[in-house]
Amino acid sequence: MLSKSQLLSFGIFFRKFWVINKNSCTTRRERIRFTIFWICLDFIFFVSLHPIFIHFCKIIHFMKISKIQKFGGTSVGSATRMKNVAELINDGDTKIVVLSAMSGTTNSLVEFAKYAAKQNFSKVDEILNNLNQKYSQVISELHKTPEFIEKSTLFINSVFEFLKKTAQKPYSITIEKEILAQGELLSTHLFTYYLQEKNIDCQLIPALDFMHINIHGEPVFGRIETDLANILNQFPNQKLFITQGFICINHNSEIDNLQRGGSDYTASIIGAIVNADEIQIWTDIDGMHNNDPRLVENTKPIRNLQFEEAAELAYFGAKILHPTCILPAKEKNIKVRLLNTMEPTAEGTTISNEVSHSGVAAIAAKDGITSIKIKSGRMLLAYGFLRKVFQIFEDFQTPIDLITTSEVGVSVTIDNNKHLNEIKQKLEELGTVFVEENMAIICVVGQIPSDTIGIQTKVLQAFQDIPIRMVSYGGSNYNISFIVRAEDKVKALQTLHNTLFV
Ligand code: ADP
Ligand code: ASP
Ligand code: MG
Repeated sequence: MLSKSQLLSFGIFFRKFWVINKNSCTTRRERIRFTIFWICLDFIFFVSLHPIFIHFCKIIHFMKISKIQKFGGTSVGSATRMKNVAELINDGDTKIVVLSAMSGTTNSLVEFAKYAAKQNFSKVDEILNNLNQKYSQVISELHKTPEFIEKSTLFINSVFEFLKKTAQKPYSITIEKEILAQGELLSTHLFTYYLQEKNIDCQLIPALDFMHINIHGEPVFGRIETDLANILNQFPNQKLFITQGFICINHNSEIDNLQRGGSDYTASIIGAIVNADEIQIWTDIDGMHNNDPRLVENTKPIRNLQFEEAAELAYFGAKILHPTCILPAKEKNIKVRLLNTMEPTAEGTTISNEVSHSGVAAIAAKDGITSIKIKSGRMLLAYGFLRKVFQIFEDFQTPIDLITTSEVGVSVTIDNNKHLNEIKQKLEELGTVFVEENMAIICVVGQIPSDTIGIQTKVLQAFQDIPIRMVSYGGSNYNISFIVRAEDKVKALQTLHNTLFV
């Protein structure tokens, strides 16, 4: 696509032709014709730069948004935290702020939906009362003026009324998703009312008006871009926009979501679409640590990570980031910064294309893994066996995480057991099948290309007292993965940490 300045340079260039060619016209008639031709050309040229033309050509034009700032559940988990966030974002930059639900709310809504499905109304009422109490308390601490106390109270009452009515309806997945969406709607409305009360100029833009997903649950970038541009362009002088993370509209125009933890994804989708300078993920810790801080002692923040490393860590269990959120940022080469709301001056982690270290950067673990081993004499010297195995997983829409093979067997891991029995039955047509549930993936991530010497030995040494079910190395330059029993996970993480980082 050509920018306006490029078009202008073309215009000036053509003008030069005009001067040269005009001099070569000999008769008066020729000159008149020539001048009319150029007037028409000029007219087309200038009209093409007009915003209306740009609009009709569907050339999408965004105002410059410098930052996307996403605040997670704990960052907006109380009235005090919301007030801190309001101070943090109020720096005059043009930005879109993405908020999660207040911490605990989505979990409560999941419970609520579960009991509503079972028509267990005493539990439904209990959850609703707890939520009501919590949010009434937040409102009383958040606002000073009766006007805004009333506005916020009216809003939460409408949400609780909606939840109450919805719980009476027969269960469906759509209803469950409508229930889950209320958390982000609550946090963003209360926060916006707080900003308005403080006279901080802001605009709430509903995610349900632009965040579309397709039948596979993936963002529809083209549609999001058009709809978001239309919304933003209605407020050309606005600097601060607020929107909901996590929630979206699906191919059936129903309320849906980007999976648990998906507000990070919302932030990176928006960041990529508006071509922001950076995407900031604000949370309750000072960046990506070199091991899981919930399970291992003495973990440290990592200052810089490459997109690929961050994606591997997020996918293999580093809860600080939603796994899908790296890709949109990587594709547009927009740096992602992980920052701490409780300690805003801490450096955090910057994720970009730059490689600033060598060797192992971090370790992560993913639970809920099932390992499946298929042993078959038919695999020996045969071709096509793996295709048949993969086809079965594809038929049951079950992604495979890791894979290792030998001449007589193949082992894979999955993290979704929904169709385990059917998959097992089908695989038994190919050979003897062994299934082990309750396993964990331990993932060592960093710059570990195949010509690395020493790291692999060191990593394996850490497992000298821990049985390893599977090893996967060489699939990328960024990870070595091990399958261990779930009960050995913490020991494996701690031992690896002591071996590699202490
Ligand atoms: P938010 O609610 O802000 O989205 P999350 O709970 O999703 O926050 O993610 C932050 C949490 O991720 C931290 O409190 C931390 O306990 C956990 N976590 C797990 N692994 C890591 C890691 N490697 N580095 C940093 N935090 C991690
Ligand atoms: N509120 C949603 C959840 O708890 C999304 C998010 O926080 O990112 O999963
Ligand atoms: Mg999160």
